[in-house]
Amino acid sequence: MTRRPAAPMPDSIRHLLRAAQHPARAVDCPHCGALDRRPCTTVSGRHLLPQPHPGRISAWARATACCPQCQVEPGTPCHDEGRARTTVHARRYQEAEATAA
Ligand SMILES: [Zn+2]
Ligand SMILES: [Zn+2]
Repeated sequence: MTRRPAAPMPDSIRHLLRAAQHPARAVDCPHCGALDRRPCTTVSGRHLLPQPHPGRISAWARATACCPQCQVEPGTPCHDEGRARTTVHARRYQEAEATAA
């Protein structure tokens, strides 16, 4: 028989709370139209999604972080040698997560 702790560790609770409240919810979702602080839903609006849409995470990273790769300011889309991207560089997500933490 294995012993189990009587209560979950505080760290695991914090982790669950973080997962429930993704920082990308600070911006509206361009994909499903969820307003800020509201979870994403399917496009029909019937089902809540556990994670924000990728487009919302892009919009959040674009709004809150500078991009370490293409050197743009918050609010400015990423670009590849002057050509605008519809998504942000991967490093910008990391930058946004570091800012939100
Ligand atoms: Zn959404
Ligand atoms: Zn970029």
